[in-house]
Amino acid sequence: MSNELKVRFWGVRGSYPTPGAGTIKYGGNTASVEVRAGERTIILDAGTGIIPLGRELARSKRAGEILLLFSHLHHDHTQGFPFFVPAYMPNARLHIFGPGGTPETLSAVLERNQSTETFPLGLREMASTKNIQSVRESQVIVWDEAGVHLAESAVGLSDEAVVICIHKSYAHPGGVYVYRITWRGKSVVYATDTEGYVGTDRKLVQFAKNADVLIHDAQYLEEHYRGQLVGFPSTQGFGHSTVTMACEVAAASETGRLVLFHHDPSYSDEMVAGMEATAKSLFADSVAAYEGLEIDLTPDPSPKRRGKLSDENKMAMILQSPSPLPLSQREREQWK
Ligand SMILES: [Zn+2]
Ligand SMILES: [Zn+2]
Repeated sequence: MSNELKVRFWGVRGSYPTPGAGTIKYGGNTASVEVRAGERTIILDAGTGIIPLGRELARSKRAGEILLLFSHLHHDHTQGFPFFVPAYMPNARLHIFGPGGTPETLSAVLERNQSTETFPLGLREMASTKNIQSVRESQVIVWDEAGVHLAESAVGLSDEAVVICIHKSYAHPGGVYVYRITWRGKSVVYATDTEGYVGTDRKLVQFAKNADVLIHDAQYLEEHYRGQLVGFPSTQGFGHSTVTMACEVAAASETGRLVLFHHDPSYSDEMVAGMEATAKSLFADSVAAYEGLEIDLTPDPSPKRRGKLSDENKMAMILQSPSPLPLSQREREQWK
């Protein structure tokens, strides 16, 4: 079995796709990120970036079993799904999870997105086997030797299981799920479509604590957010962050690397490059996501760690506990 843990970016833009000469460097497709853990493929969101990803999965014969997680169901996170090639493959098995008031909500929304009036093919006409379910924040998504299943806690799970915890954020209209994916002691946090709070989003900081990679919304320039950029009204309250907000969460959660995500569709490559430079001055290990960016987190294959409960899985257990964690000494000092 492959030991690789890789994160690859297929769509990094927010709101709507932006093809054209001004977005070639970072790319114009909307949100979609692939996490490959050994033989397992996990996809975060189905913006238009999932379309080339789907073709690649079919071409490389990796479309057999796929786990797709929706952060929320706004257009820019779902619009690529009707064009996702594996969904049409009879031998493909898709496990699809996301937010929703009842377990059926997600399925109903995806069906509506492909109603007769809006798309030529319905969800049920896509030939793959699909398990579509809205999940609760308290549930844990597990992919282990028993397959993909839901658990009520991460207690006792082995390091070999892919463990996915959920944090529900209210810092976006309608709410959004933040996911933490852990495998063999490494973890990736996906926090798109979220707006920072004064003094940082403390719950998100706890949730992202010590993650190896934090993918964080950084849609706006500071001046744009504040309404001080000519031609751009203030976006305060829209549910997206500035670079500074993203860097504050990265620093407070002591994450390994920050990836700026969900670039504003009206921003050119030059503007995003400028934001990346700002981010680096605030949090050194920062990068602006671009289509094709790949981060390799392949863990140390040390046999003594494998099969045991890693610190990461202990972290997953703590994240599931109802009482908030106390701040560390370092955090207390940082936020005095
Ligand atoms: Zn979005
Ligand atoms: Zn949104």
